[in-house]
Amino acid sequence: MVDQQAPAPQDPATPLSAAVVAPEVRAPDEGAFDQSLRPRSLEEFHGQVEIVRNLELAIRAARERGEALDHLLLSGLPGLGKTTLAHLVANASGSALYETAAPTLQRAADLAGLLTRLERGDVLFIDEIHRLPAAVEEYLYAAMEDFALDILLDQGPSARSVRIDLPRFTLVGATTREGMLTAPLRSRFGIHERLEPYDPPTLARILQRSARLLGVGLAEPAATYLAERSRGTPRVANRFLRRVRDLAQLEADNYIDLDIARRGLERIGVDAHGLTRVDRLILSTIARAEGRPLGLKTLAAAVGEDERTLEEVYEPHLLREGLLVKTSQGRSLTSVAWSLVETRRPGDLFA
Ligand code: ADP
Repeated sequence: MVDQQAPAPQDPATPLSAAVVAPEVRAPDEGAFDQSLRPRSLEEFHGQVEIVRNLELAIRAARERGEALDHLLLSGLPGLGKTTLAHLVANASGSALYETAAPTLQRAADLAGLLTRLERGDVLFIDEIHRLPAAVEEYLYAAMEDFALDILLDQGPSARSVRIDLPRFTLVGATTREGMLTAPLRSRFGIHERLEPYDPPTLARILQRSARLLGVGLAEPAATYLAERSRGTPRVANRFLRRVRDLAQLEADNYIDLDIARRGLERIGVDAHGLTRVDRLILSTIARAEGRPLGLKTLAAAVGEDERTLEEVYEPHLLREGLLVKTSQGRSLTSVAWSLVETRRPGDLFA
């Protein structure tokens, strides 16, 4: 039950906590940059075709019935567009969106403060929903299922409980760790969509759109070069574009050709294979163990990154590129990775 004696909830409009991103390309005003390039409608959202189609259908059907859209769970690695989709779903449903992140909802009262502000049809977006404390999560069950909240008034012998009805709303939960969601929470979402990394042609289209918005020219081969090194992630692609644009502005009259793209990435430590400084450090650290698999903790300590960032940002890319294998014993290199570490061809930035 929600204890009314608890301190006032935080402002529900609290900005989302910093997303996990590769530090090589982290910028202080990244949140604002992300927002400025965010697609404004589902038509402007490139890729994830099936998901967009499913969502458009569900939104249309709910609107025709005059109902709120079913609760929606979006999962996938950081930077793939979960927050963007939550905004676009609200937009397409003609609804207001309230945005928060699970780490800011520490007490049941924080959640109650948010839910009681909602109006019929509103969308509540909770990022990192796998990080909700258990006590808060239990309140969410009744809110999602029965659209009600039980509030505890007073304490001690005069304590009594009051049920507050909530308007029908849509919860959009986003998670980078679907496996960490409890079964009862997962089962309360009517729609589950999993975002996958983007292919380079789609990322190249996203880059062309961003380049237009930023007022910079982008040659096709340069777009392809950047797209192929963007780890399948629009946020990384946009961030690369931003850094490369600086070079284009100073040296090439605001036009990014292949040479500028190559040099721009090299300046921020991204090599011809799309590996960042930390990727290379991971590979050379494992190589130094001479065939002994390394555990996550040891690896994180050796490269100076936290375990979550290693697992969510660096490893997925190295696994997808066929450079790393994970076994129950730990992480080891594939023969391709060995040849990269050992040969150091031109364009490789291995130290
Ligand atoms: P997530 O919530 O999954 O971490 P975001 O929705 O914040 O990711 O997306 C990060 C950035 O990438 C946004 O600024 C947005 O501009 C861009 N982006 C993500 N997906 C797309 C897409 N499909 N088309 C165009 N831009 C995208």
